[in-house]
Amino acid sequence: MEMRELLEQVMADHKRLDEFNFKKGMATAAALGVLANPAMAKGLYVDPGHGGKDPGAVHQEYHEKDINLQVANKLASHFKDVKVSRDGDTFISLSNRAKGANEKDADVFVSIHVNSSDKAPTTNGSEVWYYTGSEKGKTLANDIATALGSERGVKDTTKFSVLKNTKMPAVLIELGFINDETDRKNLLSDKWQNDVAQKIANAIKNLYSGVK
Ligand SMILES: [Zn+2]
Repeated sequence: MEMRELLEQVMADHKRLDEFNFKKGMATAAALGVLANPAMAKGLYVDPGHGGKDPGAVHQEYHEKDINLQVANKLASHFKDVKVSRDGDTFISLSNRAKGANEKDADVFVSIHVNSSDKAPTTNGSEVWYYTGSEKGKTLANDIATALGSERGVKDTTKFSVLKNTKMPAVLIELGFINDETDRKNLLSDKWQNDVAQKIANAIKNLYSGVK
């Protein structure tokens, strides 16, 4: 096994173990009746994908990084205890995104992205990714996908760095396809962005009542 592979395996095992310990801790907390204590909550971490020299998906003059930032800002505005990986057009490495969330010790990690496909205009719609084997990630992904009415549903992967290297339940949302005409109209609409941010925020708050 290569060093990098080994390290990734250790990180993945650590993530599963962390969720196991979290569940054990929650069970103890529930038994002690301290579950509703807001002091336990450590808030939300929102990660607008790409930025700076990395535009993400591009169609004509439209860049994924800009849409990600707009929706991420709208999502963050629903929370008091929230941190973002970037609040401007700056380049942040994938490892620093996960590191930021782990340092905050956030309860929930949400990465915002926009898709692109060479099959468009036949491919469209949103999808929500979680880390393979993460039960809490899966539940969160399911709830967000339901709230959004995601056409492409929920998917799991071990390949996304930010999902792999974050310690807390984490999802990556692909809002739609930048090179699909209908999706793009939505993605660029302030009203649609507000609606989507509200739905994601509601799904998070319904599942994690302590995250405000
Ligand atoms: Zn992306």
